[in-house]
Amino acid sequence: MQRFAEPMARLIDELRKLPGVGTRTAQRFAFHLLRASDAEAAALSDAILRLKQHLRLCSLCNNITDVDPCAYCTNPTRNPRLLCIVEEPTNINAIEKTRSYNGVYHVLHGTLSPVNGVGPDQLRLSNLWPRLSSKTSGAPGLDSETWEGGVTEVILATSPTVEGEATARYLLDTVRKTHPTLRISRIATGVPAGSDIEYADEVTMTRALEGRREL
Ligand SMILES: [Zn+2]
Repeated sequence: MQRFAEPMARLIDELRKLPGVGTRTAQRFAFHLLRASDAEAAALSDAILRLKQHLRLCSLCNNITDVDPCAYCTNPTRNPRLLCIVEEPTNINAIEKTRSYNGVYHVLHGTLSPVNGVGPDQLRLSNLWPRLSSKTSGAPGLDSETWEGGVTEVILATSPTVEGEATARYLLDTVRKTHPTLRISRIATGVPAGSDIEYADEVTMTRALEGRREL
């Protein structure tokens, strides 16, 4: 590998850690930044710092947000009884692009992967259960099927990969046990099997949502 002055080598090293960036791309980025004005370079480094300082996870749904609870959780026009469970915050964008979903979300930040030692404890599940547990069985005027302020349908929108399917299966079994009357559905495989829903186009994702099947 070509030898660079220490500040250049350090920047290339940092850029290479980004997903999808190899040595050659990292070098291109570094030379681009070297030619850029001081203001442009400062704007990039400031954006990175602000990202780390101002963003956190929503305490309700685990989405990445600068206000807690996040904009989806507090939006009065969204249906809080419809809950879509996704793997990563970026999956929310994939679903929002369809404009055919008006419920709220829960982000797991991962999938079950026994091979890689990822069990249910590593997923962000602890704040999911309380959202499902607002049943007001026996309250006057309400039958046992009525949920007050709680969720009535859970959509399992994990990717149709081995890990995504295992995660959906785990959630189905767990939620079934604790909330036997809750409707649980799985997105249809308009999303190609084995692929990540992040890369699904809008039409495919819309079909996947519309064709979801009850489990
Ligand atoms: Zn939220």
